[in-house]
Amino acid sequence: MNAKASQELILRKILEKNQATEYLNKFMNGSTDISAFKSQVPVVTYDVVQPYIARIAGGEESSILCGEQIVELLRSSGTSRGEPRLMPSISEDLYRRTYLYSLIMPIMSKYVRGLGEGKAMYLLFVKAETLTNAGIPVRSVLTSYYKSPHFLQRKHDLYNKYTGPDEVILCPDNKQSMYCQLLCGLVERQRVLRLGAVFASAFLRSISFLEQHWCDLVNNIRIGQLSSNITNSTCRLAMESFLAVPDPELADEIKAICSSGSWKGILGRLWPNVKYIEAVLTGTMAQYIPMLEFYSDGRIPLVCTMYASSESYFGVNLRPLCSPKDVSYTILPNMAYFKFIPLEDGLKLTEEDEVVENDKLVSLVDVKVGCYYELVITTFSGLYRYRVGDVLQVTGFYNRAPQFKFICRRNVILSVDTDKTNEEDLHNSVTSAKKILEKRNCLLLEYTSCTDTSTLPGHYVLFWEIKSTCEGTTPRAPLDAQLLESCCIAVEQSLDYVYRRCRTHDKSVGPLEIRLVETGAFDALMDLLVNQGSSINQYKTPRCIESGPALKLLNSRVTSSFFSPRDPEWTV
Ligand code: AMP
Repeated sequence: MNAKASQELILRKILEKNQATEYLNKFMNGSTDISAFKSQVPVVTYDVVQPYIARIAGGEESSILCGEQIVELLRSSGTSRGEPRLMPSISEDLYRRTYLYSLIMPIMSKYVRGLGEGKAMYLLFVKAETLTNAGIPVRSVLTSYYKSPHFLQRKHDLYNKYTGPDEVILCPDNKQSMYCQLLCGLVERQRVLRLGAVFASAFLRSISFLEQHWCDLVNNIRIGQLSSNITNSTCRLAMESFLAVPDPELADEIKAICSSGSWKGILGRLWPNVKYIEAVLTGTMAQYIPMLEFYSDGRIPLVCTMYASSESYFGVNLRPLCSPKDVSYTILPNMAYFKFIPLEDGLKLTEEDEVVENDKLVSLVDVKVGCYYELVITTFSGLYRYRVGDVLQVTGFYNRAPQFKFICRRNVILSVDTDKTNEEDLHNSVTSAKKILEKRNCLLLEYTSCTDTSTLPGHYVLFWEIKSTCEGTTPRAPLDAQLLESCCIAVEQSLDYVYRRCRTHDKSVGPLEIRLVETGAFDALMDLLVNQGSSINQYKTPRCIESGPALKLLNSRVTSSFFSPRDPEWTV
């Protein structure tokens, strides 16, 4: 109701706390005047903040950016010049995140009865973390949350009780953690009322893992003993109570379900009391909806509850049972100070390096239904008029707080899990692989890409049209396999940190594939797109093709395909 007052209060508090920082001082000379902030503090991208973050990471005082101690740097999945972006975070941010989480169950309980009578099998994982030179932890926002007292000392009522013990969630080995969490969910299958993970990709990966390992899991239940593959001692200890006695009856039930042909609708059979599946299914995660519908046979509601990022948490879905394609998030006016860059001509994006005039910005309460905006935030932890990079469309208001549909993240063209690859990253990676081709007298004439999520985990696919500069028009077999596999490796090796982590450590992205297409395939693609309305003068090969006739055309002209034979290098 009081969105406007709430936003003003937030901004006042942020300025009071941070007025003395080097960053704000540069623009406001120590003033806390709101109008000075609005007129003098520029809209920025990460490149402007990065030098401050680097100085803090190297040991300088947090006060150059933030009035409070920066206690951790949150590694976001966005990249800047190939490096992961690190977002400053202060202790009280955990309270804001907890506040948003604490709204989810009351919202869900308005629509679904009896959620307090059972448990949730939410598959939650932590990621590896490091320390900066100055000893500041660098971790993902979810890892930070699961390791915090806000999560570990949460009130243990059934609304926030998960089948997997906290020790298992915190296991650094994601595979062992996944195995144990699935085992717990199977042991308690009749009590499970909710299924989910943070992202749809992680949930589906776990179901595919279950498909591969159900025999072992069933066996563990049958004999009351945990597989010896689980070597993490904390996990083993935490799992003792789940397998206290052999349960051949339960093992038989699960075996019968898992071995009876198709896995269509398996989720409802394994967890017969489940009321919904929760995961982020908007944005790039929408590609997983068909797969989830397959495993649930379209009978279990798919619920997206929240919209958040490493920079700040943003909002909640107040109509959680709506179809995933209709999800809107109501931005919580007490999370941060929000501004919006209006996108002209519908979806025309402002270039990242283009100066955005301050008077162009629209306040949270003044956005217009139907219009598109890019999100800009000011936080307590040291981001001032920072462009998050997300494009949103206003769909309505909840009292005075606007509701937004997530449209896209600017620039991201490929994403399978938490990886987000933009056109520039892809181009640089392809360029490094191109050099290998050129050494072997082959030229890369054209390329485009797509994600293939028909396999689990999904993977990146590059369509390449190659011309040999010596004999013939295509490179000779059997050189091809070795050559193209080394190209796959080179592309992957040049993709960013998060991609390589997903590939190597999380195993949430499969090996990259290069599909060679026959000569003329990209000309045919141009003809198709021009026929569909692209201007021939301004035609540029799209660097990513999501679906439809264009993808069909390229796939119909594939002559051979090659996969990366090994994981790219990645270190924490
Ligand atoms: P990260 O900072 O790595 O956690 O990534 C945050 C970004 O993920 C956001 O800025 C969005 O682009 C995307 N994201 C987070 N939540 C959602 C959601 N519910 N729907 C669509 N995209 C989301």
